[in-house]
Amino acid sequence: MKWEITDTALESEFITEVERLSGQEVSSCYQCGRCSAGCPICYDMDYTPNQIMRLVQLGLREEVLSSNSIWMCASCQTCTTRCPLEIDLARVMDSLRIISHREDDKTVFSPQAFIKDLASRSYDSLLRTLQMDVTSNLKVFSKVFLRSIREYGRLSEMNLIMNYNINSGFLFSNLLNAPVFFLKRKIAMTRGEERRVAKVEKIFKKAEEIEKRNAEADSKNASLDYSLHSE
Ligand code: SF4
Ligand code: SF4
Repeated sequence: MKWEITDTALESEFITEVERLSGQEVSSCYQCGRCSAGCPICYDMDYTPNQIMRLVQLGLREEVLSSNSIWMCASCQTCTTRCPLEIDLARVMDSLRIISHREDDKTVFSPQAFIKDLASRSYDSLLRTLQMDVTSNLKVFSKVFLRSIREYGRLSEMNLIMNYNINSGFLFSNLLNAPVFFLKRKIAMTRGEERRVAKVEKIFKKAEEIEKRNAEADSKNASLDYSLHSE
């Protein structure tokens, strides 16, 4: 695949944002490939871990945040242990997921912006969006998975399937498997105990508080960086 490397891409704020959030020096990665050679999920990622590092270095935000790699990553930390520069790549992947979630929270849907976004995407990125492939919607999967745990105190398969199909737009995905799952008692219809739901809710609330604090601290640091650079 070819990318046009423009001055704008190279001067992007993206790498600074990722480095600040992850605490890792992404710019020092020299593409030895040891991370990708050890990654157990690499074969199913659209960009290998070292390619993700390169894309971040080039400031190709859209390519990184729309790739399935950041959602496929299992946080196993194999890459982290293999990197000769001791870059914690698993943490970089975590940070990319956080950035992606934060962008969603800021987004107010506008049809014009949606059309503009589609028009600006590369052919490959568009193809991934349109593919009837579950791995192209891992972001949606991750969101509905967590929502289901929060609501039910445990994973509710039925809730997960329904929400995934509706939110991903693949309304009939896995529908033929449903009767088999039912017959084999793999799909539970019950909700977790109230006590468990309350406990899980506490964990989510705490995580939200931490994320809010981190996001505020991060935006303060970003404006500090900006004022230092503009002096
Ligand atoms: S942490 Fe993620 S990117 Fe790193 S080796 Fe594991 S799955 Fe691959
Ligand atoms: S192992 Fe480290 S230096 Fe090598 S490509 Fe991966 S992140 Fe870059």
